[in-house]
Amino acid sequence: MSDFIKKQARAEIFDLKPYTPGKPIEEVKRELGLEDIIKMASNENPLGPSPRAIEALRDSLNMMHFYPDANCYYLKQRLASFLGVQDNQLLVGNGSDELLKLLVETFINRGDEVIFGLPSFSEYEFTATIMGAKCIAVPLIDFRHDLTAMAAAINDKTKIIYLCNPNNPTGAAVSRAEADEFMARVPDDVIVVFDEAYFEYVECPDFPNGMDYLQQGRNVIVSRTFSKIYGLAGLRIGYMATAPEIVAAVERVTEPFNVNLLAQIAALAALDDNDHVEASQKLNSEGKAYLYKEFEKMGLKYVPTEANYIFVDTSRDCQEVFKQLMLKGVIIRTGDIFGYPTYIRVTVGSPSENQRFIKALQDILEA
Ligand SMILES: *Cc1c(COP(=O)(O)O)cnc(C)c1O
Repeated sequence: MSDFIKKQARAEIFDLKPYTPGKPIEEVKRELGLEDIIKMASNENPLGPSPRAIEALRDSLNMMHFYPDANCYYLKQRLASFLGVQDNQLLVGNGSDELLKLLVETFINRGDEVIFGLPSFSEYEFTATIMGAKCIAVPLIDFRHDLTAMAAAINDKTKIIYLCNPNNPTGAAVSRAEADEFMARVPDDVIVVFDEAYFEYVECPDFPNGMDYLQQGRNVIVSRTFSKIYGLAGLRIGYMATAPEIVAAVERVTEPFNVNLLAQIAALAALDDNDHVEASQKLNSEGKAYLYKEFEKMGLKYVPTEANYIFVDTSRDCQEVFKQLMLKGVIIRTGDIFGYPTYIRVTVGSPSENQRFIKALQDILEA
């Protein structure tokens, strides 16, 4: 690094760990000269976007010369009735990632503390570190948030607690009773972010819906996204529901046209496409059952998931498994970046993708 950058850049940026995203299909094609590649690395919907969203986009492509609605008026109206909140309780962002960043820009001063699970979604540490927060990473128990330890980590400096539920990368969720007990211990001036990016995939009956705590008047933010079950990851659009005063504060630091025109139109159409959501849930549920069964046949331990990905112990070096799978045209995520060097995280795909992944994994583990 040049002396110029060392001297002039903000010190916080040198505390950041680089993000390792799932490899894009085109990059693997280029690098390996492979044609037929499947990506099971970033929890994208194997059914693709809602056909209604595609149609709405097609009809609006000729509007692209206009700036988008800065306030996402129609989408907020629709989301408000969908969620049972007021439209002044909603923030819409260029992916929930942007909203996570706006949140710390609004609330974090240097030296403030944030708490999250270890391992959990990397954006919490990334965004908070940029603002100079002290990050308290609390190890999971049984692949789930240790809410008792997280509550015990709260002190006068704590500003935000991130509860990724179900947790990424493990897929496990905390129960309603655990969340209730935890919320009873959180002081009112600490914000709890319920990151429910995979909410629509959850199957367990005692899942704590973050919206309930919001309705109780608690200081919570519920974060959801159009990137996962709605299949719009490439358009970048996510939302948060919270108290009007938090919305107003975060809006102060938000760029005027942060959510693009096409994303707003596609999200509105996707929200109305119940058939697509239900088909996606069914496909995921069946895919989970298939993969569980195959892992059991192979004698592999896995974490039962409430999301659309499975954290599975290959009992081999995950980097080696990753490389071998890639040579067979299957992209997954390795567990080493999360502290689990023999685990991989695989997105539940279409039936043919799941079969191809299992066949490839069997070949690799038998070799
Ligand atoms: C994918 C994901 C998000 C959503 O990110 P977007 O920026 O909306 O695409 C948020 N939180 C978690 C835990 C995720 O896995």
